[in-house]
Amino acid sequence: MQDALDLARRHGWWYRKAEDHTGAAQLYCRRDSEEHCFFPIFGTGKSPGGPARSLKRKVRTCTHRIEEEEPKIEQAERLLSGADRLIAAAESLLHRARLHERVDEALAEAEELETIARATELLEVAEANVVRIDELIERADEWDMEATAAGRDARETLAAEGVETEDPNVPVDAAEEVIREAEAVLDEVPRRLERVADLRNTANLLRGRISVVRTEIASTTRS
Ligand SMILES: [Zn+2]
Repeated sequence: MQDALDLARRHGWWYRKAEDHTGAAQLYCRRDSEEHCFFPIFGTGKSPGGPARSLKRKVRTCTHRIEEEEPKIEQAERLLSGADRLIAAAESLLHRARLHERVDEALAEAEELETIARATELLEVAEANVVRIDELIERADEWDMEATAAGRDARETLAAEGVETEDPNVPVDAAEEVIREAEAVLDEVPRRLERVADLRNTANLLRGRISVVRTEIASTTRS
């Protein structure tokens, strides 16, 4: 029950003793309005668990105090957009790693073709290989430039979030932490609010992106 009372206190609920002889007390979600939720507090804790649960539910579903909850919703929003940027940075780092792999493959193939071209006495093969080698090197250059741009994007985003790393695991771990923090904040605001439902949905989508990134990290480092 202490938990539930703490939750109510954090949400600004009021405590008032009844003015009759019963000595009973009630909690109110707000003081200065006719429209409010209330919750009776029984001195004897007859059914442990039950009242605590229903008080928590009342606190969380109360929509009378929306203005007061606004800063929390905004905080969750900020946290989630930070998580979004961290995941985007991890995605850029992965993109860069994959492009570097392709560059290495193209250069290895070019080298092999060059060896064949040098060994062959057939002019036709030698010429065809030279054309293909030029193509491969041109493509490798393009991928290399794209990789550099992706790395720069990641670095800038991470610097803005106060993280310095080349390892995509780091921003992904940080994003997961931030999402948990945002969800803890959302646990404290009324669930019925549409914006809260949207933010919870956003958190789930971000988690989905994280699991894709994690799978790709595993497959990139394996090769
Ligand atoms: Zn209320």
